[in-house]
Amino acid sequence: MGSDRYKPLKRTIRTLAAEWEPRLDLPGILVAHRFHNKWFDDDNSDTTVANTVARWEYREAVIHWYLPSAVRLARSDLEMVLVHEYVHVLLGPIRESIPGEHMDRLELATESVCRALLKTIGLPPGLPSKRVPNKSLAAESSTPRRGKA
Ligand SMILES: [Zn+2]
Repeated sequence: MGSDRYKPLKRTIRTLAAEWEPRLDLPGILVAHRFHNKWFDDDNSDTTVANTVARWEYREAVIHWYLPSAVRLARSDLEMVLVHEYVHVLLGPIRESIPGEHMDRLELATESVCRALLKTIGLPPGLPSKRVPNKSLAAESSTPRRGKA
C-alpha cells in the first residue's frame, strides 16, 4: 500500500482545510495536517479518522489523519471530521483544565459547535448522512464506517 493510494484523499482534506480555515478565522493558530498510512491503533480495530494535538501555548496544532479510516468516508463526513478537529484546536486552551472524567462533556461541546458551524453553510446537522464513500476518494471498495475523531 503506497502513499499514492491516498493522494486524492489528502488533496480533498487540504482543499477542505483551505476552505474552512479562513471561514473559522483561526486566531493566528498554525494548523498542520499530518497524514498517516496506518490505523490509529495497532490492531486495526479502531476507526479513529483523525485526532488533534493542540499546542495552544505556541499557537499551533497538528491534526493527525489516519488514512485507512479516512478513505472510507464520504466528502461530507470528512468535512465534519475536519470541522470537529478545528473546534478541538480552538478549545485547546481549556482542554487541560477539564478533569479526565469530564472529557465526554468537552467532546459533546466540540461536536455541538461543529454541527452549528456546519449548519451555517447549509450542511445537515445530522451528519454523517451518507454512508457511501466518494469513489474519487476510495482507491478500492470498502465498507464505510463512522469514524470517531
Ligand atoms: Zn473529538
